[in-house]
Amino acid sequence: MNRPLEGVKCSVKNCKFWNEGYLCTASAIEVNVDGGGQSASRSPETNCHTFQPS
Ligand code: SF4
Repeated sequence: MNRPLEGVKCSVKNCKFWNEGYLCTASAIEVNVDGGGQSASRSPETNCHTFQPS
């Protein structure tokens, strides 16, 4: 298991990289705008694309 990414708080508990304490143990994460493009207006329009189901 990688060390948790500092400063990343994640609530997606069914991701294989998720650990107790809202920690992400991926080596890096990629976050994109829903639907493509490079501009979001609100946080719900963004998502972690490193997610993998556990
Ligand atoms: S990879 Fe993304 S969804 Fe998975 S624990 Fe890390 S931040 Fe959360």
